[in-house]
Amino acid sequence: MLAIRFARYPAQAMDATPEITRFAPSPTGYLHLGHARAALFAWRRARATGGRFLLRIEDIDTTRCRPEFEAALLEDLRWLGVDWDGTPRRQSAHFAEYRKVLDGLAARGLVYPCFCTRADIAREVAAAGAAPQGPDGPLYPGLCRDLPGAEATRRIAAGQPYALRLHMARACEAVPGPLQAHEENEGWHTCRQEVFGDVVLGRKDVPASYHLCVTHDDALQGVTLVTRGEDLKPATDLHRLLQALMGWPAPRYAHHPLMRDSAGRRLAKRDGAESLRALRERGVSAAEVRTMAEAG
Ligand code: GLU
Repeated sequence: MLAIRFARYPAQAMDATPEITRFAPSPTGYLHLGHARAALFAWRRARATGGRFLLRIEDIDTTRCRPEFEAALLEDLRWLGVDWDGTPRRQSAHFAEYRKVLDGLAARGLVYPCFCTRADIAREVAAAGAAPQGPDGPLYPGLCRDLPGAEATRRIAAGQPYALRLHMARACEAVPGPLQAHEENEGWHTCRQEVFGDVVLGRKDVPASYHLCVTHDDALQGVTLVTRGEDLKPATDLHRLLQALMGWPAPRYAHHPLMRDSAGRRLAKRDGAESLRALRERGVSAAEVRTMAEAG
């Protein structure tokens, strides 16, 4: 009886797992077609599966993010026809949560304070001849890794600014066996998180970092499918490490190609990519923008 009744529904709807996806822009400028592509990609997956689409404002860089860009991006998404579930989460309102994660990692000896300036690191790298490159740039040469605890405490008490770095070697030992990540259309791969070296998890200015906040929030918000531009694909291996260290669930990943201009360069705010509002002002419709953003 049941089988007969269920057979009336399309197989797709029966089989699709409701996905929880998110669009996570940083309000440092106006949205352009690259953002529209990322937002539509995540939104369609949630809507097609009867899941949830979340909006997260990644504004931990309080010097570069501006409230007017946040207001503008909400307006631009509405105009584009992208609706979100619940209230957008604004990361700058949650520094206490990120600090708690850092405190927990510090108590386990998995992060250490680093007092180095950019100049200190550059000098050390130059003296060494060359530094191995990681996905986020040259690997940290480890100047503060073995600083005696008393010395670190003295410098902190003296008010010297410091970042918190992941002790990569210890972190790799703290997780059981090789980690795996699932990429849509590719399947599982074994993570090589060690290529990041001792990354900064807590910045000098705020007790947070992109890698920490994104993994924390994806877990907190129950994101099942992380969708984002392929430029962030290498970060997945580090994110799996943080999830394993914290006991957070592993989402699946789907990275999409970036929007490129006619010269093949990726669209970027700093290169003056035309904003969605500029397109709108010159009479391009939302439907046309959706087509442009999803083509190719
Ligand atoms: N906030 C990031 C960006 O604007 C996206 C982060 C992510 O999707 O993981 O590029």
